[in-house]
This record gives sequence, C-alpha cells and structure tokens, in this order.
Amino acid sequence: MIEYLLVPLIVAGLVVNGLRLRARVPGRLPASGTASATGEQPATAADWVWITVRGTTLGQATQRDAATYASAEKLSLVDLVPADLPATAARDLVRRVDPRAYRTSVLAVGGSAGAAMLADPALLERAGVIGVPGAELSGMEPADVIALARRLRPYAGQRAAVAVAPGRWSAGDDLAKRRARLRASGNIVGLHLALDVIPYALTVLALVTDWQWGLAAAVAYCLQPYLIFAGTPLAPRGLHAAALLRPVSEPWVWARTIAGRWRSSADQRHETEIAEAAVYYQAALAAGTARFFEERRHSCPWCGSAEVGQRLRSPDLVMHKPGLFTLDQCGGCGHVFQNPRLTPEGLDFYYRDAYDGLGAGTAETVFLTAAEAYRGRARMMQRVTTPKAWLDVGAGHGHFCAIASTLLPDTVFDGLDQGAVIEDAERRGWIATAHRGMFPDLAGELAGRYDVVSMHHYLEHTREPLAELDAAAQVLPSGGYLLIELPDPQWRLGQIFGRYWMVWFQPQHQHLMPIGNLVAALERRGLQPVAIERGPVHQANDAVMAVYLFVTSLVTDRSKPWSPRPATALTRASRALVLAAGLPFIVATLLIDRTLGRALARHWDRGNAYRVLARKQEPADGS
Ligand SMILES: [Zn+2]
Repeated sequence: MIEYLLVPLIVAGLVVNGLRLRARVPGRLPASGTASATGEQPATAADWVWITVRGTTLGQATQRDAATYASAEKLSLVDLVPADLPATAARDLVRRVDPRAYRTSVLAVGGSAGAAMLADPALLERAGVIGVPGAELSGMEPADVIALARRLRPYAGQRAAVAVAPGRWSAGDDLAKRRARLRASGNIVGLHLALDVIPYALTVLALVTDWQWGLAAAVAYCLQPYLIFAGTPLAPRGLHAAALLRPVSEPWVWARTIAGRWRSSADQRHETEIAEAAVYYQAALAAGTARFFEERRHSCPWCGSAEVGQRLRSPDLVMHKPGLFTLDQCGGCGHVFQNPRLTPEGLDFYYRDAYDGLGAGTAETVFLTAAEAYRGRARMMQRVTTPKAWLDVGAGHGHFCAIASTLLPDTVFDGLDQGAVIEDAERRGWIATAHRGMFPDLAGELAGRYDVVSMHHYLEHTREPLAELDAAAQVLPSGGYLLIELPDPQWRLGQIFGRYWMVWFQPQHQHLMPIGNLVAALERRGLQPVAIERGPVHQANDAVMAVYLFVTSLVTDRSKPWSPRPATALTRASRALVLAAGLPFIVATLLIDRTLGRALARHWDRGNAYRVLARKQEPADGS
C-alpha cells in the first residue's frame, strides 16, 4: 500500500531536484571571435592572474576566450569549468553554485569547480592575495582553488562568473580528496552526504516493499544524472557509470569520501589557527571565568527600579564556551538584562572568534541568508525618504549595506563597527567609508554628516544602549531618521522554548527591551517614531533554532580550542550519531517555522523582532 504513495513521491523528488540542478549548469564560455567585432582592444592573457590546479594547462585559445569574455563583461573573477569535469565533482558544483545568482546577487555564495580561474590583479590585492599580472598561480590543489574562490567572491560582487570551457582538460577526480573539497566549498560534509543517502535509502525501501513499483523508483534514480547534464555544455567524465551503475557507484563514492583523510593547505592553515587559538583560550580559562563578570547590580539599568528578578540562566548554547549567564527582568518596566554584566575582558573573551577569526565563515553564511530582511529594512526607509548619506552602526561585514544599495543606488552607505571586519567591508566595496570604534566615542566627529542612522540587531549587544541612543540623537540633524531593529522579548511563542530561544542568545545579548521602552526612550531624545513594523520582521526560526541548540548541547563539539577536554573517536562518533538522530526534528521544525510560525506572526502582527523608524524633531523654541 505504502508504495503507491512512496514511489510517486521519490520519482517527483528526483525529477524536481534534477531539473533544479540542471538549471544551475553553467553556460559555455563564448568564443572570442564574437567579441572582437566590438572594435575594442583585444584582451590579452597578460592582464590577468591565472589560477590552475596541478596537472592542468589551459590552452591558448581558452585563455584568449576567457580573457576576452572577462574584459567584455567587465568581470574581475571567472571560474572556468572543464567540460569534462568528473561526474561527482560536477554534481557537487551545481549543488553549491548557482551561476545566475552569481552574476545578479552580491550575496550569492562563492564556489568553484576547482580547476581554473582567472582573476583581476586588483581584486586579488583588495582581498589580500598576492598575484602578479600575467603570472600563474599554478600547481594548486582543487580544494585550494575552491577555498580561494570563496574568499575572493565577496570582493568581486556581481563581477564574478562561472563558465564551461570546452575541451578535455580536467585533471580528473581524486575521491580521496573529495572530503577536503567539500569542506573548502563550505559544506557540512556529514549533511552533504546525508542528503545523498536519503533518496538512495527511500529507493531501497520502495524496492523492498514492492519490487515492481520499486523498480520504477530505481530507474528514476539511475536516470537523474542524465536529467541534470545531458545536452548541457557540461559532459561530465564518467557520467554513464555514475548514472547506470548509480546503485553501486554512489555508496562507493560515499565510502571513499568518508575515508578521505587528506588535508588541503586551507585545512592545515585552519588547524594551525585552532592550535594558536587554543593557547590563548586555555591560558585565559586557567584562571577561571570569574573575572569576566562584573558585580551583580540590584536595580534596572533602564528605569532604575529596584524590583529586579531572575528570568533565566543559560550556558553559551551557540559557541559552547565555558560560563553560566543570568538574565534578569525588571518588574517595573519589563526590561531584560544580563546580570551580572560581562566586563570588557569578558566581552573580548566571549566575542572572540564569533564573527571573525575562526567564526568568520559561519557568521558569513548566516548573514548571506538574510537578504530578504535587509531589503525589508531598506524598503521601510524608502517609504519615507531617499537618504543621501546612511550610516549603519554595527555594520559588520556590510551585508545589509550591500543589499540596500541595490535598492537605493543614489544613497551613500557608510558603516561603523568595533572590529576589523568593518575595514574589510570597505575593501569589498560594500560600504563607502569605514568608521572603526565605539559609536558614542565617534558621535562628535560624525555629527551632521548623515541623514539616516541605522542599528540592526545592534543595541542588544551593547553595554549601554541608552548611550548609543544619545549618540544617534547627537549625530542626526533635525529631520534625520533613526532606524532600529531589535529582538522582541515579548513574543509569546518564543517564550515556550525557555533558554533554547535564540532571542536570549547568551552571553552576547546584554539587553532586551520591550518595544514600549524603546519608543519612550526615543521620544525623550526628540526622536519621534513615524513607523513601526512587527509581524513582517519576524524571523521564522524559533523552533528550528531551539531544536538545533538543544541537540548540539547534548554532545558539544570538543574540537573547539576553548573546549575543556579534547575530542576522542568516541565523542566524535556519538556527536555524529546524535546529530543524525536530530536531523529529522530539525527539518520538521524548520517546516513548522516557515508555515505555521510565519502565519501566526502575520495574523497577530507580532514576532520575535520589531523595527522602529523615528524622525528627529526640530528643537522646540527657546530650548
Ligand atoms: Zn526597569
């Protein structure tokens, strides 16, 4: 009975996913004969840095075509895909990279076939990579080319492309190094493999249940690689074996991947970084964590009320650094705050490697997925004014500014942050000017230079949010706008998750303010709220993040340099097992968040975040 449901579902899944991947197969590199008709100076290979893997040489014709294409399209980075890229690598590529998004979206994930690239020397310089024009970075490993592509991609923005270069020039596939390639692509290897195993296991289940129906599923399973690649510019090497023998070739590929112990130079650099970080962390922790905390306070930092009670206690559920943190709530105004508060040394300890260093990659991945929220913020502003100069406070790498400037092309975006990442944002071209430091310290020199100041998920991380509001009021001229987005501690559905609700985010979130408190504090500073958004700002991730934080807290990752005890084969295996068992719950809660959670937020016009847009009033007469 089950097969009547299962088999159509498997076949439909294979076809839909096959067509999705087929749409991602890159186009063919145009032959240069067509471009020379424009009368422009023909591009030469000497203008570019050529990056190739060991065992690969680019033919002169390919080099000429690629250089001409890059010049004509004003590209600064082109990934060249061998037309005979091996089947497994080809599928990994289309799973990771969407060439159309590559050209149209600044935030599209970077990737590479790991064969060859050409790059503008100026791009390499901005990204801090050494490269001489006309020279070749040759003899690299595919994993290192992929890592380099991911590193360069944010600096290239929309001027990056992926194209299939014809001919048989692939260096072949070394499955023992695939695991390193997947890591370099930013994949979670276990998850990548799990997504391969699911259709396979379902097909086997269908065969066991009813061999005749199951055969239909097996045929669809075998034909899927053809559906992806047949008739496209990519003619993967080994496609027939990968398709027709798929029931045996796939498990073979998985086994070889899992067994792969080879480490790329990116992996080795990463291991060195971890070892160096471990020296700092173990020394810092040897003295205990007590010095990271201030004295407990007995009054509300927002309203001064002495009516303060404990809201919850939580360890660091995100990074799993040692320590236990307390959130108190004010009985007078409802303000939630960390008590005892972290000292500056504590902040340095707990923020280290969260957004830069070892955590840079993960943070980048999170920010890349928030494009829709970034657009929502820009549109809220668009409805009241077209800003001339916009200062984003707590801008980080500048992801918001990169997206907002596509909607507001005439606005100059500057960014402010404490970390070195803000200087990187300027090198990427995502902001015009970087201001590094604390906002209250810089407010004097920034006064009058911006008609918009924004703070997105920033105030809750600061030690003194009211001082930040003072600084905003000081910087803005009369008629200027302040846009603030914050987590909403009053969202009732979030509260059911206790300490696993992402909004509490200990130890990073120092203050969580009910919207009424923020509005009153703005009004006291002459900043009159003109628009408020709640339901549409909801981030549909309450349940999935709670399950994720719960599952990962059952078996913490001991490979971290701050881990008190090192990982062993047993802890690694039990962690993999628990994560695998948790995966179905993570998927299920993700679906609940995206459907029911989102619908309720819309229905109630409330959510786990809110946005307030305020306008600075003219000073009253005589004041
Ligand atoms: Zn209070």
